[in-house]
Amino acid sequence: MVDIIGGGILGLSLAYELLKRGTPVRVWERASTLGGLMGRTRFPELGGMECDRYYHAILSSDRTLMNLFDELGLRSRLRYTATKMGFYHDGAIYPMSTPLEFLRFPPLRMIDRLRLAYTILACRQIKDWRRLEQLPVAEWLTRLSGERTVRHVWAPLLRAKFDGDFSQVPATYIWSRLVRTTDTRTKGGSQELMCYLPNGYQELIDALAEAIRQRGGQIELNATIDTIKVEDGRVSGLVVNGHEIPADHVVITAQTPIARRLLPPEAAAVSARWGQLDGFLGIVCMLVVLRRRLTPYYTLNITDERIPFTGVIETTNLIDPQHVGGYHLVYLPKYVAADSRFARMPDDELRQVFLGYLRQMFPDLRDDDIAAIRIGRERYVEPIHPIGATDLIPPITTDIHGLFLANTGQIYPQLTNGESVCAFARSVAEQIQPIVTRHPPAAALSLA
Ligand SMILES: Cc1cc2nc3c(=O)[nH]c(=O)nc-3n(C[C@H](O)[C@H](O)[C@H](O)COP(=O)(O)OP(=O)(O)OC[C@H]3O[C@@H](n4cnc5c(N)ncnc54)[C@H](O)[C@@H]3O)c2cc1C
Repeated sequence: MVDIIGGGILGLSLAYELLKRGTPVRVWERASTLGGLMGRTRFPELGGMECDRYYHAILSSDRTLMNLFDELGLRSRLRYTATKMGFYHDGAIYPMSTPLEFLRFPPLRMIDRLRLAYTILACRQIKDWRRLEQLPVAEWLTRLSGERTVRHVWAPLLRAKFDGDFSQVPATYIWSRLVRTTDTRTKGGSQELMCYLPNGYQELIDALAEAIRQRGGQIELNATIDTIKVEDGRVSGLVVNGHEIPADHVVITAQTPIARRLLPPEAAAVSARWGQLDGFLGIVCMLVVLRRRLTPYYTLNITDERIPFTGVIETTNLIDPQHVGGYHLVYLPKYVAADSRFARMPDDELRQVFLGYLRQMFPDLRDDDIAAIRIGRERYVEPIHPIGATDLIPPITTDIHGLFLANTGQIYPQLTNGESVCAFARSVAEQIQPIVTRHPPAAALSLA
């Protein structure tokens, strides 16, 4: 039996992959619902309308996810939309969806636009990312795109994404991003093809949970793991909601800082190893439910550094508004370091500040356009991988028999998203299944 801590997409897809390989599992989730960051939020004031707490797109090029949808019978549920992207620069909005729009982007001179196009093409040719990992992203981009483009486009985007400081971000970050997003372009690169499930990622979460239960897996909700018990160098139990139960093999899928808090003093060396690379950025994200469409874009990137949020993500330009009660959903994310003033800002103030800037961007936005607002906050979302830190990524196995770590901090150089998380879960299952089979539980050993 493998005990999996965390009922987010990673824990659930890992449970599913282990069961497929014949290994029994139990999933422990501290919340009352499954899904973690991919969960839903409900609006009783809007007739019980439900939508994703955060925005989640699926790309048509997400191969692992597509296989999973096939296995779970969800493929026919997918809806496809050619989405648009824009840039908010210096108080104006510019479309940036097609190569032609790209070549017309006014803030850059023609030579800069051509170099930007070259950067994207050059990225696709790079297969060996190890060299990029040693290079600061700004240095690499300046070489490819030129200083002006870095100043006007890349630097503001990176500052927004990394809460100000991107000096330690390696070139792999932009490389991964460009390769993934250009993969999803239609032939000729004229449009970006994204897809969605009508009830959001929750449909995948529900289908995984059902498949796990059908194969005999257990899922426990409202079950907080307080600590992992270790005896004689091997896992001996779990403390769940204050009660100890026996356990032999435990995989923690929660983010590394949370995972370290679950370790007992006997695992101090493991904790120190994990602590070598355990940085995560958090997020503050305001969801504005509107009675009308705000923009034609799924993503409106912001290079105007006076605006505090990273972008304006209007998910109802991907999903049909009929799936969310006819409303229009606009997410305003702000990635935050632990000491960011936005991380600590009270909800009322944040609401005022963000709405003030949204009105500055869209002066015709009226009070009665806004049907509801929700503010979501997460402390650990985006793993931080500084330059040259690949060797510091914690391994999946540990020196404690039966203890494993499998979380988004170990996914690299891919960025964390549903596709990379599910591919990682599959690879973790392949790696730990033989170990779990080779090391039978302590009870079985003592009977032998
Ligand atoms: C604003 C935003 C936008 C995003 N956009 C996209 C997108 O467009 N496309 C995409 O594919 N991905 C996107 N992502 C990323 C995606 O949400 C994450 O990569 C993914 O959900 C991570 O899943 P996880 O299972 O690793 O972590 P989580 O979802 O955090 O799951 C971990 C689970 O562990 C549980 N847990 C923690 N501690 C304990 C404990 N002690 N005992 C029991 N349970 C515990 C938590 O409650 C949680 O449910 C986005 C994320 C955010 C925040």
